[in-house]
Amino acid sequence: MDLTRRRFVTLAGATVLGFSASSAPAAQGPLAPWHQRVRRVGQVNFSERDPAEANVEAWADYWASARVDAVLLNVTGMIAFYPSQVPFHRRSRFLNGRDFFGECCNAAKARGIRVIGRLSPDLQWEEVVSQKPEWFMRDRQGHPAPVFSQAPGLYQTCVFTSYFSEFTPAVMREVNGRYDVDGLYANGWPNFRVPSCWCEACRRIGEPGTMEYHRAYMDRCLEIWDLYDGIAREKRPENLFFGNLGGGIRSGLDLKRLGDHAWWFNADNQGRTGATPAWGAAQQGRVAQAVMKGRTITNVTGAWSTGSPMWRNAHKSPAEAESWMAQTVASGMVIWYHWLGAQTGLGEDRRWQETGRRFLNWHARHEEHFVNRQSIADLGIVLGQRTQTFYEPPAPGDAGEYVEGFYYALLESRTPFDFVHEDDLSPETLRKYSALILPNVAFLSDAQCRQLEAFVHSGGSLLATFETGLYDERGRPRPDFGLGKLFGIQKAGERQGARGFMNSSYFRIEQPHEIVRAFEDTNWLPGSEWRVPTRADGQHVLTLVPPFTAYPTEAIHTDVPRTDEPAIVLREQGRSRLVYLPGDVGRTAWRSGHPDVTRLIQNSVNWMTRGRRSVQVDGEGVVELFAWETEPGFALHVLNYNNPNLHRGSIRRHYPIGPQEVRWQLPRAVTIRNASLLRAEARLPVRQKGNVVEFTIPRVEDYEVAALEVTD
Ligand SMILES: [Zn+2]
Repeated sequence: MDLTRRRFVTLAGATVLGFSASSAPAAQGPLAPWHQRVRRVGQVNFSERDPAEANVEAWADYWASARVDAVLLNVTGMIAFYPSQVPFHRRSRFLNGRDFFGECCNAAKARGIRVIGRLSPDLQWEEVVSQKPEWFMRDRQGHPAPVFSQAPGLYQTCVFTSYFSEFTPAVMREVNGRYDVDGLYANGWPNFRVPSCWCEACRRIGEPGTMEYHRAYMDRCLEIWDLYDGIAREKRPENLFFGNLGGGIRSGLDLKRLGDHAWWFNADNQGRTGATPAWGAAQQGRVAQAVMKGRTITNVTGAWSTGSPMWRNAHKSPAEAESWMAQTVASGMVIWYHWLGAQTGLGEDRRWQETGRRFLNWHARHEEHFVNRQSIADLGIVLGQRTQTFYEPPAPGDAGEYVEGFYYALLESRTPFDFVHEDDLSPETLRKYSALILPNVAFLSDAQCRQLEAFVHSGGSLLATFETGLYDERGRPRPDFGLGKLFGIQKAGERQGARGFMNSSYFRIEQPHEIVRAFEDTNWLPGSEWRVPTRADGQHVLTLVPPFTAYPTEAIHTDVPRTDEPAIVLREQGRSRLVYLPGDVGRTAWRSGHPDVTRLIQNSVNWMTRGRRSVQVDGEGVVELFAWETEPGFALHVLNYNNPNLHRGSIRRHYPIGPQEVRWQLPRAVTIRNASLLRAEARLPVRQKGNVVEFTIPRVEDYEVAALEVTD
């Protein structure tokens, strides 16, 4: 046993005792355990009927041809895909005496593919309700809670019951005992939000929806996660368990606590629905990176047609699926390619196979450049999970929109950035950042406020909007801003906004300044829909013109064309620059799509950071950037989102974009041994002067990776 392995086993063992995985170094390199080196994962999610029709050899051959390291294989819990002896683990009616799981497991293993048993502890059958009534989630009236899809005969199980602590472990141990599995995975749990359950166990805990219930749910999640991880490792020390996560910026679970316990974060974020932006997978990647610190993150790409209307058994637009996979690897995650059903062999629609095989083979050819050490970004958006979960916005939309507007503004301005979790604001974490953005992080504890103040006092810059810090961590309103002293602001009234058919506020330009440089020939800019009336000393660059009526046209004028209420407060304190925007500019930018609001955000960020960024990419097109320090050197990822359906529907094809001029200030002096464009599979000529590397990416079709191999 080598040192790395021994250290991993020791640390992994420690998680059971309540130590967190995050205290361990990111397990990387050739000696890291297999699940930290996994690069591609495949899954055909079998239906109960599939044992009758699936072609096991074709299934295994396909995944071998797609060069996956591991497959997910259905164990389940409501339907057994093998002759289970565990009471209430009902065997598939189509097994016909076969051991379908065993056959698939052997076929995968024969091809050198690892097998992860997929359980689904979230559901059980109606006929079990009378025998094990305590297992089931209940509504307020005490009725068993049906599955959200309303599939007949199935009801949801509750995590606080022995279904999770006894039945599921029994299934896991049976699988461990019979099969050569490498890990266990729970579909359908813990997912993205805390459920509401009024079963007997839950009634003892408290009212669903409250912070107390949320806390108890998270405690239970970690207890169960550790229990399952311990069971997985009874088989072999390097086996593991992981659950199902996702939800992006809107996840209602405490990702920091889960991330600290997890060696593998699976984001069940399979594709777009109507409102999801084209960059939904990349955004999910940034969220998961904030808590996983280099440990394995997979993102499921649904090869099936996600969205509404949906087709679980038809291939989605190949360009859309490929973009999702490109975003997955660009943001440092691992592809988990997913198809449903193996009717007539391996699905009635077979088109998904070539899409996956093509992308995964390309990835396999260049996989060393996707082993990341750390992101190269010195700007962070603080991910306020308490705000996302419990804050009630004053107007339509959810708390995620305050973030979405900033996300798009940074994407459009090609600014590299990370998410930073609100419970991870220690000096150690913040050391790499020169600036942080708080997009209406309304709930902040006193301790978090002190951490942010310390960040500024050590030279960091800060931008905050709207109700940031106006509530404590439990959502209790503060009389004034928690960061008021830092920004030099005071609350001057309750939040106000344009309601109904109204002009939103305007921002009046009062004086020339960097943040208004782009706005010519106007005194007014479109302002925020909502704001917190704010007082601040000094001359303001922008002042507020309050909302006024929008109909009838004769009435569209304001009697208050000018106020001394600031629409932006700018401060300098040593090396730090501070920006406070009293308006909900992120949400307003996102909902309105008005370029001025986005531009104001971009100008404010640029002023705060003095326009400095480690990597500058100039060229046409809407692209998203990721810059990584990798095992061989460095990699710059450019995701091209230009397509006929940028904001809605599937990507049908990409509009290729022309030359992208890159100027990259590497964090240290290195010798570049080799530089290449991975998508084009071409050599990349680079110019180097000290730490600065310059090159041109001549063309980006859907995605390009400029990979630098270096010697220190
Ligand atoms: Zn319950």
